[in-house]
Amino acid sequence: MSDGRALARAYLEQQRLLGTDAVMVPAPGEPVAPPPVTPGLRPGSGDTPSPSSDEVHLTPGVSPGKIDTPAGLTFDPPAQDLFSADPVQRATTLAVIADLVAQCTKCRLCEGRSNTVPGEGADRARLVVVGEGPGKTEDETGRPFVGKAGELLTKILSAIGLAREQVYICNVVKCRPPENRTPQYDEIAACVPYLFRQIELLAPSVILAMGNTAAQTLLNTKQSLGALRSKVHRFRGIPVIVTYHPAALLRNPNWKKPTWDDVRIAHRLLDG
Ligand code: URA
Ligand code: SF4
Repeated sequence: MSDGRALARAYLEQQRLLGTDAVMVPAPGEPVAPPPVTPGLRPGSGDTPSPSSDEVHLTPGVSPGKIDTPAGLTFDPPAQDLFSADPVQRATTLAVIADLVAQCTKCRLCEGRSNTVPGEGADRARLVVVGEGPGKTEDETGRPFVGKAGELLTKILSAIGLAREQVYICNVVKCRPPENRTPQYDEIAACVPYLFRQIELLAPSVILAMGNTAAQTLLNTKQSLGALRSKVHRFRGIPVIVTYHPAALLRNPNWKKPTWDDVRIAHRLLDG
């Protein structure tokens, strides 16, 4: 087989024998040969054929001597994907994510925090509630939604028969913005990998996005809450229901009824 596939196969054979992702690019004119074999390893076993050096050409009619790569160059392609070395992507539990958050200084919000607020709840939760960011009480305690807005959230959840402990509650940013201001775009961008990995690990049946920041971040849109409500959206395939933030409800009691309607939709999706 005198084509690129033969070359690729020779490289794969190299990697298999070396047990690494490294590829040794041959010097010009030098054929791709299997690396020296450690005693005890059986080269060429199984159905992977050992390449025969005179079979290896980049493309038909082009000899290996034409490969324009400096002799001795090696490179390490990423083992799985581009982000496999990122500790957030490698985290396999919510506790590991919480530890990473606790040490995080990726944005300016680390400067004013007393505690990080990674999120809390059942690690097998079917419903994930996402708010905006910690407020004063959350910053003091390290727990999400424990102030006035949190009390209202607890009531909203109990209205659909869910205890706080049965769901997972978290925020887009894990450190309190000064004066409870809205998190800025770069802060959200720095923090959102934690949220996305949390959702990935939880793999819930439904996400309830409370308020503009949660909705716009999860749905990657600038559309307003009003435009996003009353529809079932998706985040990586998971249904997302958008509703008002409990802190906004405290200021606008008129929004309670529509919020109840939204939460009921989320509840129905949980049952489905
Ligand atoms: N508001 C939020 O968005 N999150 C909290 O944790 C508390 C208040
Ligand atoms: Fe890190 Fe998020 Fe806190 Fe910024 S808000 S320091 S990104 S944990």
